Amino acid sequence: MSNQIKLYLATSNKNKVREVNEILAQIDYINNIQIQYIFDEIENQEVRIIENGESFIENSVIKAWSYGKIIKKPVLSDDSGLSILCLKDFPGINSSRFLEDEPYEKKMEKILAMLEGEEDRRAFFACAATYFDIEKNILLSFEEKIYGTISNEIRGTNGFGYDPIFIPEGFKTTFGELKKDIKNKISHRAKAFEKLFSFIEKNGLLH
Ligand code: IMP
Repeated sequence: MSNQIKLYLATSNKNKVREVNEILAQIDYINNIQIQYIFDEIENQEVRIIENGESFIENSVIKAWSYGKIIKKPVLSDDSGLSILCLKDFPGINSSRFLEDEPYEKKMEKILAMLEGEEDRRAFFACAATYFDIEKNILLSFEEKIYGTISNEIRGTNGFGYDPIFIPEGFKTTFGELKKDIKNKISHRAKAFEKLFSFIEKNGLLH
């Protein structure tokens, strides 16, 4: 398509790039935006972002701001995580750093062990989606959540990260078992990016 708009997602997590593209494909008023992996644009540049914010929004803004200053083009970012209520919202903003060098299988096993015998298994995924346009001086961020519970075992192979232990409210299956088009309609990421793009579209920010 000739008038395709490329937007870079400030993340090293390709699962997020894939998911945001799938989410946009399901929004009918969007048909010309392509989300790109930011390291395709800044290859060979050593980038060290210190994600030391105290909230999803803060970390999302840190990422968008830092990468936006480097590429000098509009960027998107996503900061997200899983918060478990009886563990005082752990791992929350540290979801990717929890047992950092271990595979997700191990991280999920550890969480299930921490919840052994626990009746209150309520949890939520949160996502802060940010848009930063350095030239037009625009910075927007929306945070959304999806509530659910932590399953008793790891189930399903769809999605990524903690998807196989999260059962969204109203479902019996984990995100790991749900079809991707369902996750991409109801998820924290879907809701946050829908809000962000609805604002961008309504205000003509990409034109
Ligand atoms: P971030 O890159 O600091 O935002 O890390 C987010 C981390 O939270 C991911 O690496 C996953 O561990 C977890 N996470 C966020 N969103 C999801 C999701 O949709 N499914 C499963 N895990 C997620």
